[in-house]
Amino acid sequence: MSPRDYPGLSYWLETAGEPLTPRPGLGGDVTVDVAILGGGYSGLWTAYYLLRDHPGLEVAVVEAEICGCGASGRNGGWCSSRYPLHPATLEARYGAEMARETILAMYDTVDEVGRVCEAEGIAADFRMNGILSLARGEAQLAAVRMAQVAYARLGFGEGNRLLDEAAARDRVRVNGIKGALYTPRSAAVHPAKLVRGLARAVERLGGVIYEQTRVRRMRQGADAALETDRGLVRARRAVVAAGEAYLPRTPGFERALVPMSSSIVLTQPLSDAQWAEIGWAGGEGLGSQAHTVDYLTRTPDGRILYGSRGAPYLFGSATEGGEAAFERTSSEMRRQLTDWFPMLRDADFSHAWHGFLGVPRDWNPRVDFDADRRLGVLYGYTGRGVSTTNLAGRLLASLIVGRETPLARLPLAGHPARHWEPEPLRWLGVRYVQDAMKRMDAARDAGRPPPFDAPLAKRLSDQ
Ligand SMILES: Cc1cc2nc3c(=O)[nH]c(=O)nc-3n(C[C@H](O)[C@H](O)[C@H](O)COP(=O)(O)OP(=O)(O)OC[C@H]3O[C@@H](n4cnc5c(N)ncnc54)[C@H](O)[C@@H]3O)c2cc1C
Repeated sequence: MSPRDYPGLSYWLETAGEPLTPRPGLGGDVTVDVAILGGGYSGLWTAYYLLRDHPGLEVAVVEAEICGCGASGRNGGWCSSRYPLHPATLEARYGAEMARETILAMYDTVDEVGRVCEAEGIAADFRMNGILSLARGEAQLAAVRMAQVAYARLGFGEGNRLLDEAAARDRVRVNGIKGALYTPRSAAVHPAKLVRGLARAVERLGGVIYEQTRVRRMRQGADAALETDRGLVRARRAVVAAGEAYLPRTPGFERALVPMSSSIVLTQPLSDAQWAEIGWAGGEGLGSQAHTVDYLTRTPDGRILYGSRGAPYLFGSATEGGEAAFERTSSEMRRQLTDWFPMLRDADFSHAWHGFLGVPRDWNPRVDFDADRRLGVLYGYTGRGVSTTNLAGRLLASLIVGRETPLARLPLAGHPARHWEPEPLRWLGVRYVQDAMKRMDAARDAGRPPPFDAPLAKRLSDQ
């Protein structure tokens, strides 16, 4: 990223309620206890829990641009209780007991985000609106039922209820809706107000944030430090990698995850008449069963945010370039929204933006602290980081100070990194899977059987 018009990066940053003036950068070498690369939710939650629970610690956050300029200031605003892995995958990989513990930890995480907003006076429009996972067309019903069966088998059937077509339509009048899975215990937030408020909470607790300061390299072991373009931040106890989709640029993390682009288009506020036609009074997060992923949020000022994982992976895990593809994706998404809500045929759109989320090879977020290397890592939320970063930050803070926590049993803790393939294999594989997902969606929408290579694509995407 280069210096830029920060409010122009997303509607959320534009409406964060502050001028987004960068904080001063690092002014020369300093020494702290914990030095954190990245001023998004991951870095800031880690700093927050370190400082709140251990007031004597010296913590610095080093951010290349401004806090929240990455995914944390640009996302769809779902503070979701759903773990990045499907409940059936969680159960198959880690067993029923661990799947249950993980789901309970996610419920608690959503509550915890709300608690901290309340305690720290962060006005992030936190609202417990729930999620509706919709079946759009008969062919999507199987996926909705499968998720409900998986939740019910784990004892969470009550909190994940199946709605038939009439009950789903009663909540929201989406074209082709055939049913839904309703998860009430999930929230929505104003993403930028959350990340910017969190940064201020970290500072109130004594943390120091250097913005406009890029980390070039992370030194580990007895010599642990963040080497930046403005000096050195030495760390007595730990350096932390919290750069998510941008992390592959840092030496040592080139294949830890791939940046996956996600795009958003936003309407102007709709009229009362339009809302009366659409319904959606509960303001739940909406998504369908599309393999290419879609998510819709009703904003507090009456707009519809429509997000999708659309633009293709860029060679070498780049996070710059591909502007023409983003343009194409946004205009296709404006059209897609009228498929969802035909009554919006003439709706005006005010914003379009995109950002990058981080996808690890096993689709499972990773939190780890190696005391010998004095290296902490937390990354790989695959588009579910608004809530999961809180869980990850709490866990990593405990690991760094050596405090026992039941969170250390969860599947995101301490598992070995599975690296992505080197280029050009990575580009070929990711582009192939992205293309296959589109073909699978097209076949399902047209009532055709899945393409012959669907099992291979699913296995490669390994969710
Ligand atoms: C368009 C979009 C929609 C999304 N929607 C949702 C959603 O609705 N719900 C949900 O749960 N998740 C969603 N996500 C994902 C979620 O936003 C992320 O998982 C979460 O914000 C990750 O936080 P983070 O702090 O780990 O990463 P980021 O917010 O990306 O922060 C990383 C920070 O590190 C900084 N950095 C990187 N490298 C360096 C360096 N070398 N030196 C200094 N600083 C560096 C970056 O500038 C950046 O500020 C979405 C993501 C996108 C892009």
